[in-house]
Amino acid sequence: MSDYHEKTLAELSTLLQTGEVSSSALTEYFLSRIKQQDAELNSFITIAEDQAMAEAAEADERLKSGNTSALTGIPIAHKDIFCTRGIKTSCGSRMLDNFISPYDATVVNNFKQAGVITLGKTNMDEFAMGSSNETSFYGAVKNPWDTKRVPGGSSGGSAAAVAARLAPAATGTDTGGSIRQPAALCGITGLKPTYGRVSRYGMIAFASSLDQGGPMAQTAEDCALMLNAMAGFDEKDSTSIEKEVPDYTADLNHSVNGLRIGLPSQYFDEGLDDNVKAVIQTAIDQYRDMGAEIVDIELPNTSLSVPVYYVVAPAECSANLSRFDGVRYGYRCEDPKDLYDLYTRSRGEGFGAEVKRRIMVGTYALSAGYYDAYYLKAQQLRHLISDDFKKAFESVDVIMGPASPSTAFNIGEKAEDPISMYLSDIYTIAVNLAGVPGMSVPVGFVDGNPVGLQIIGNYFEESRLLNVAHQYQQQTDWHRQIPDSFK
Ligand code: GLN
Repeated sequence: MSDYHEKTLAELSTLLQTGEVSSSALTEYFLSRIKQQDAELNSFITIAEDQAMAEAAEADERLKSGNTSALTGIPIAHKDIFCTRGIKTSCGSRMLDNFISPYDATVVNNFKQAGVITLGKTNMDEFAMGSSNETSFYGAVKNPWDTKRVPGGSSGGSAAAVAARLAPAATGTDTGGSIRQPAALCGITGLKPTYGRVSRYGMIAFASSLDQGGPMAQTAEDCALMLNAMAGFDEKDSTSIEKEVPDYTADLNHSVNGLRIGLPSQYFDEGLDDNVKAVIQTAIDQYRDMGAEIVDIELPNTSLSVPVYYVVAPAECSANLSRFDGVRYGYRCEDPKDLYDLYTRSRGEGFGAEVKRRIMVGTYALSAGYYDAYYLKAQQLRHLISDDFKKAFESVDVIMGPASPSTAFNIGEKAEDPISMYLSDIYTIAVNLAGVPGMSVPVGFVDGNPVGLQIIGNYFEESRLLNVAHQYQQQTDWHRQIPDSFK
């Protein structure tokens, strides 16, 4: 029996480059794992078998010719929010159940250029709205560590697929925590880059000033390899930033001796589960043993982040989702009586409850008379939240805390209570509002359920985050754990 699923991207890369395995064999191996084991998880919406095998054959030619990148021949999965030419891109919604994109997202294209194979598209909360992956039109995703529990969201399909090793790595997107929270709940490593670092072109928009794509993988080193392919300026995205892309694998081996780690008191308050807190504390102690200096800091406006986000994100989504009108593409209702009926029924039938809730909140917040009271006020508070981080990074190099206040909760537990669901992102949302990068790294378990340590950096300090996470992973093997039924 092969054990390719136990290998990291870095290890698979070596096997491919030395010819010990072909991309075709590796791709087939992961496709068969998905076909045999995903029924339990529902982490994939589409398996792209034919395209994947064709791409693998091409990658094998490239590997023979020597014209390769470190990722050539590696199969990964894409969150179903990234447009993929010729493969359905649903965004987890009935609205796009029939949508086949005529073009590739820049992220997808970058991976293709590097010779990476697309295994398929992963399940997600509808239009990336959610923290549990229960809002998908295609049904809930299950957490591979305990299938009664949620994997987190909205990139829950990607997180579950990587945790169960159905794919060696996957892409995700993070608007308020959707890479870091599911990475934490599934025990994998995920990175949300600085806003603007990774192109949003072809990534279906939820809240444009917050959305950012990033890698979800087993290790920090694998995230670095993926970010090398993902990051960079894109003239097709006016918010992507023209700034040189470093080699993210270059600084992984720096010592963390003397690193100043800030612990915000607001991230260790009464909302945090005691057992999660103890696991996070142990990880921080380990950094102290590695020579890091621990500094108590304040991010005083943390409690404003969830309310601010739930004005800004719905406002932006209400504008972005107005394009789904039943006319140009996507779902169209049967036999519309007139144009108004076409709009209202197509949207009414095509969108799920959470998406409708957000559109209504956002439309209200942007309407005449309320704009100043809600949207403008939220934008002002957003500045204060960003300033908290700017101030903190004057005295520390990174900030650490939990990625989620609890481990994975049960499916159904918060589904009827939007406020308690919204609060599960209390430690991740401020990072998106400020636009700084953040990671989640597996650091242990509570009763068999994974815990993620969040590491937050200053703008464009992805290399530092990856270095700090990698150093920890050199000394621990939490990132190597695989749930029993997927070993
Ligand atoms: N859970 C948050 C929300 O529901 C964040 C989602 C995300 O990051 N895409 O909006």
